[in-house]
Amino acid sequence: MKIKKNDTVKIIKGKDKGKTGKVTQVFPNLGKIVIDGINKKFKNLKPRKQGEKGQRIEFFAPVPESNVQMICKRCGRTARIGYKFSENKEKYRICKKCNESID
Ligand SMILES: [Zn+2]
Repeated sequence: MKIKKNDTVKIIKGKDKGKTGKVTQVFPNLGKIVIDGINKKFKNLKPRKQGEKGQRIEFFAPVPESNVQMICKRCGRTARIGYKFSENKEKYRICKKCNESID
């Protein structure tokens, strides 16, 4: 996964296209991410006891990573993510537009 938790992303596909939000969860094995305020869904919980009202719960459903683009926190533009290695061989992410580290 190129996108990580706390990245800010822009939605480029689907009903929330054009919106931006912060990544709150990543699911690397599904290739999906959850973004605050994006892909809002409701879940109806059935009442547990008779006479009780059901509850409607709001949540943000995961979207495919391919539906978003990272917004670089250095230059503020949407950009593709690249990788570089530091002197001690640690991989870090860079913005392909400004070439700055975004980790
Ligand atoms: Zn940048």
